[in-house]
Amino acid sequence: MVFARGVRKSYGPLEVLKGVDIDVPTGSVACIIGPSGSGKSTFLRCINHLEKLTGGILLVDGAFVGYDLRDDRLYEVKDDELCQRRAEIGMLFQSFNLFSHMTVMENLVEAPIHVRRLPVDQAKAEALELLARVGLSDKVDRYPRELSGGQQQRVAIARAMAMKPKVLLFDEPTSALDPELVGEVLQVMRDLAEAGMTMVVVTHEIGFAREIGDQLIFMDGGVIVEQGDPREMIANPQSPRTREFLSKVL
Ligand code: ADP
Ligand code: MG
Repeated sequence: MVFARGVRKSYGPLEVLKGVDIDVPTGSVACIIGPSGSGKSTFLRCINHLEKLTGGILLVDGAFVGYDLRDDRLYEVKDDELCQRRAEIGMLFQSFNLFSHMTVMENLVEAPIHVRRLPVDQAKAEALELLARVGLSDKVDRYPRELSGGQQQRVAIARAMAMKPKVLLFDEPTSALDPELVGEVLQVMRDLAEAGMTMVVVTHEIGFAREIGDQLIFMDGGVIVEQGDPREMIANPQSPRTREFLSKVL
């Protein structure tokens, strides 16, 4: 579902990604850990077509990010096509980014109606199902400010799912939450993983990575230092940098 080879990204003279390779098979969960500034968010933004690569190749579900392959040549895709492709990828942030002036229901039906062009009744029916899945059926008519951080993030996940994404990207989804609210969000993510959702999760929740991750990726300084089976890597990190990082977050 996500395939990267030698992905590079520079901002002017600053090279943030220095050749990143990953494979995320459909239905699997890849967890990414690493110190602040190592390029984790930039990499997710590349997958989500929010950044233009400066090198390498990146495919999501077989399509080049930002390019079309025709007659053996790559063509840059147009902005409207880019929006369409971005709509197939869900992204969750540390800050929940709900529309604050809209109710939970309005948040959930906005993009399905305007981007997927669903009839209003169908969008509402799908929204209710998703709210049940994240345990928030009773919050349909609430505004984001009336919800806890954990509830807001669960709404944000339901809103992303309402677009029927091919893959969900999470950028430290629980980092802004009070500790007692982290579990409910991780539980929703666990349920999605078990239902077969393809996910790339930047997180410092090592327990989640160990339990749910099919692979664990440790990034530092714009490169992948180590990747492998989460349980093996956590129990027996090969690189001294991985070992040092894990000793700080475990
Ligand atoms: P992480 O998510 O691992 O903390 P980021 O991907 O956010 O790391 O950032 C990696 C590096 O790229 C940092 O040094 C950051 O300052 C730099 N960076 C990120 N976005 C930009 C940008 N839009 N312009 C310039 N530098 C950026
Ligand atoms: Mg980040």
